Amino acid sequence: MGSLPSECSVGGVLRIPPRFLPPPSPPNGRNGPTMVGLLRPAPAVSRLACCQDAHETFLADLSLIALPVLDEAYAPWAIIDRHPFMEFFSRRYRRELFGHRSLGFFLEQHPEINPARMPMVVEADASLDDVAEQLMGAHPQPMTSALVVTRDNRYLGIASSHELLSEITRRKQEELYYLAHYDALTGIPNRMLFTDRLNQACREALRHDREVALLFVDVDRFKQVNDSMGHAFGDGLLCAIAQRLRECARESDTVARLGGDEFAILMDGVRGRVDAESLAQRLVQAMREPIRIQEREMRVSLSIGIALYPQDDRDAGALLSKADAAMYEVKTSGRNGFRSFEPGASSYCSEKSSLEAELKRALDHGEFALCYQPQIDLARGMPVGVEALIRWVHPSRGLLAPGSFIEIAEESGLIVPIGDWVLAEACRQLQEWNRQGLPSLRMGVNISALQFRQPDFVKRVKQVLSDSGVDPACVEFELTESMVMQKASAVLDMLNELKAAGVRLSLDDFGTGFSSLGYLTRFPIDRLKIDQSFVRGVDRMPVNASIIRAIAALARSLSLQVVAEGVETEAELGVVCECGCDESQGYLHARPMSPDRLADWLRDGGNGAADRLRQVA
Ligand code: C2E
Ligand code: MG
Ligand code: MG
Repeated sequence: MGSLPSECSVGGVLRIPPRFLPPPSPPNGRNGPTMVGLLRPAPAVSRLACCQDAHETFLADLSLIALPVLDEAYAPWAIIDRHPFMEFFSRRYRRELFGHRSLGFFLEQHPEINPARMPMVVEADASLDDVAEQLMGAHPQPMTSALVVTRDNRYLGIASSHELLSEITRRKQEELYYLAHYDALTGIPNRMLFTDRLNQACREALRHDREVALLFVDVDRFKQVNDSMGHAFGDGLLCAIAQRLRECARESDTVARLGGDEFAILMDGVRGRVDAESLAQRLVQAMREPIRIQEREMRVSLSIGIALYPQDDRDAGALLSKADAAMYEVKTSGRNGFRSFEPGASSYCSEKSSLEAELKRALDHGEFALCYQPQIDLARGMPVGVEALIRWVHPSRGLLAPGSFIEIAEESGLIVPIGDWVLAEACRQLQEWNRQGLPSLRMGVNISALQFRQPDFVKRVKQVLSDSGVDPACVEFELTESMVMQKASAVLDMLNELKAAGVRLSLDDFGTGFSSLGYLTRFPIDRLKIDQSFVRGVDRMPVNASIIRAIAALARSLSLQVVAEGVETEAELGVVCECGCDESQGYLHARPMSPDRLADWLRDGGNGAADRLRQVA
């Protein structure tokens, strides 16, 4: 055989363009499909090589379906198929073989075995599918092969339509398996694979007298983040959470996404509840570290329910419901924590859907009511505003606080009509108090992210305002930081439109969630409501006092007012006054009250708010 560059020599390595390389391994660590044997980096012979060399090459490698022949410049020149070629030599023209004739000469002399098969030209970055399509389009019969070259005449190898087809089928099958068993967003196992592994783990546990733990993990307030920050942000958050769960779990645990913001962790071979609870503890702690997404830092918390096999249930499906029920207990008792299943816990799913149906009914039957909590001006000791807070007067369960239904109202979208009702009712009440001759007050109304995202939100607001006849300047919308912390200019436009309609805007629960304050200058905000978590026990926590002082100073420099929320003691009131807050709201002054009680409270002079202030001052 004539000398060929090592690149083209028998057994040598051919360059394969990047798109021919196997795709990166899927995140579960399985190997992706390989290209070996497809566009095989096949041995090639020189046109000037002896026939005997070509023959030997064929004999030596039985898997070789065809042999490329390259010219003096190493460009592809022809392809010879195994069967006609071998037949040719072994029967009629053995002398050609042993006469050491050059392959080029031989092929020119015998066009019948070199059927002028032109190399197949593909783009340099052609994919496996492209090559297959081209090959099968050109050669309708199965089992055909082709010498594949790029447009710039670079020899790529030999493609066999049969092998290509089976590889494409194999890949499709892998892809289908992957799609069916792994979550497309996070790359971790999905519900199907999780259930499979759970069933298997339970069977094994039964056989070997072992235990299996199941953690049901739900992201707190994910819906709000997703609605207010946009879906790309929400997706990034879910991926980051999946990553964090995997980091905390052991290598042998299965971390899966069940759907939405629900994850589950399967722990095989555990030493009782302690192992599961210590993982849950690690997860809760790990979430204290902020997560960075799209240049923003954000903190989220998890609610985790734990169930154990076989103690809590011997049926794998029921075990999941029990972990779910335990998770729901965590949700209803303030989120951000974990709990093991205890008999008697209701199932979240059935609870959730029945709650949704009940909420719909409550809206139709007028079961909602608003109560009002005063806000006190700290300089004058006078009530200057109230916040409208929704309550559900449940026919059998009594008075329910928003914590037990707002999240479901948000998830189900019912918060939109409920929010419409709240705004209309708050405006109606304000007018009613005005008619009764009570001092004029500002009315704070909480707006949920989903409500705010309705394209016709501003239009609806204007309609309600004009229907009720209230002075828009007396209405203040309480938004959250995450709702306005958007780059989207649409949010800014909307805030400006609301301002133009005359309403005031405040940022509720200020200080939680985001670390960047730069956005405050960009938005037409009037007031910051410092979150209760900074106010609680502030007289004993100098760090929190410093934070409140810094927020108040920043607010002053931006001409914003500051309300301290959740003031319960005189000591706390003293500190928030000293830190420079303008107003305070909290149980110390008054709990949220019915409209009539609030009217009485106002007539009684606000339960001594002014005296209290004089004392702490
Ligand atoms: P928020 O807007 O931050 O409202 C303040 C919450 O703190 C109220 O709880 C209030 O009762 C409570 N609070 C006030 N002072 C104190 C205090 O001194 N100590 C303690 N421990 N708590 C105090 P509530 O009424 O249970 O409302 C909880 C949350 O539900 C509200 O937080 C708000 O985010 C949401 N919410 C209430 N009404 C509505 C509504 O009409 N629409 C929407 N979208 N959300 C609402
Ligand atoms: Mg509020
Ligand atoms: Mg608040």
